[in-house]
Amino acid sequence: MYFLSLISLDPTISSHANFTIAKIEYKNKYQQISLQFTLNNVKILFVIKGYLKTISNIILPRMCFICEKKIDSGFICAECRMKIKFIRSPICRGCAKEMKPSTTSCRVFSSSYLHCRSSDESEGGIQRSKITIKDSVVCWDCRKKNIPYDKLLSCIHYEEPIKTLIHLFKYCNYDYLAELLVSLMIDYLLKVGFNAKRYDLMIPVPSHPIRLKEREYNQSYLLAKGLSSFFKVPLRSDIIFCSQLRPSQTKLKKELRYKNVEDIFEVKNNLENKEIILVDDIITTGATISECAKALKEKKASLVTVITLAKAR
Ligand SMILES: [Zn+2]
Ligand SMILES: [Zn+2]
Repeated sequence: MYFLSLISLDPTISSHANFTIAKIEYKNKYQQISLQFTLNNVKILFVIKGYLKTISNIILPRMCFICEKKIDSGFICAECRMKIKFIRSPICRGCAKEMKPSTTSCRVFSSSYLHCRSSDESEGGIQRSKITIKDSVVCWDCRKKNIPYDKLLSCIHYEEPIKTLIHLFKYCNYDYLAELLVSLMIDYLLKVGFNAKRYDLMIPVPSHPIRLKEREYNQSYLLAKGLSSFFKVPLRSDIIFCSQLRPSQTKLKKELRYKNVEDIFEVKNNLENKEIILVDDIITTGATISECAKALKEKKASLVTVITLAKAR
């Protein structure tokens, strides 16, 4: 009855080339309601502003996911956001470990996949001149390893207050927290001057189909989807597959994790000259992303940059 009375107040019904068949709007000082029906993609636009929203906030007040303080919008309050520990540059491009600025220098290791590029090569496009030598740092531990990706960027330390949220996102079906987590990643990547323009593909670390059925979604896919949409890098989840079901990495000791993921990923496409962003949720030992990157490089990917939401210490 309420809506019918509004329609009679100020209806605007039109039929245009864009297939909009009805547009109904009502607006006054305190409220705005608009309904739009379109035929092209069966889209129904429904906007309610004003005191109707206020009523819904009274019935279902929005609370900070971390401290449960009342908030007007978003998932967490400003105070809790301030407590999130972002990883500070300069970081090691092999393990994303924070390094002291005074210890940073460019090292070249021809025997390893991981090699130091000049600042111009490390990021292409218009922002090249902004990239500093900090992006070419490799820590002592990573110099001894044969790391198959070219660069790792990890955004947040896997600690409270964000640790609980990531756990909810990953294991408890809070898939909609992807919106918050992706926004934190974007904030970080913009701050460190990450230039996505050079990349051809955005690929999430895949889940085994059985694991996917248990969890209902691949958390890395949701993160990659958000980043892909913002940075305008095509998302592809049909390139790399997890072909063998192995025990979860979280249940294994660190020294067993590399063996556990050995040869579990398969890539079918030829990736010659493709520059790829590989997305995962958390890096612990780096075993999973290394195995993924190895499979991509075996199919001739020319550059693999790994981006993870969080880094466990
Ligand atoms: Zn809070
Ligand atoms: Zn390192």
